[in-house]
Amino acid sequence: MYYKAEQLALNNNRTYHLAAILRRKRRVVRIGENTNKTHPDFKRAYPDGAYASHMHAEMNVLRFARPGDIIEVFRIKKETGKYTMAKPCSFCHTAMQKAEIRYVRYTDWNGTWKIMKI
Ligand SMILES: [Zn+2]
Repeated sequence: MYYKAEQLALNNNRTYHLAAILRRKRRVVRIGENTNKTHPDFKRAYPDGAYASHMHAEMNVLRFARPGDIIEVFRIKKETGKYTMAKPCSFCHTAMQKAEIRYVRYTDWNGTWKIMKI
């Protein structure tokens, strides 16, 4: 399952390769990557400074979310295949609050999974 998400992220033709996994009671509802598609409500900067009006991985799966769902988001480096920082930006955080996501798991700079309450 992570393999599929990794492949999606790595083949998105973007500088950053992120994927989000929407889960409901241990079931995977939807996997989405960050894409070149712009999101109408969404013109923001990444935490690391890159500016984008492109769709973040979280936003890509949020359309399918129901209250109480969980989102996992990771960023993978093409060169090493290792996970790195994917902490949701404030805009995604707000959107996830509105969607009543229970919590988010994301990878930090070391590729370690962290949990963020929403
Ligand atoms: Zn975001």
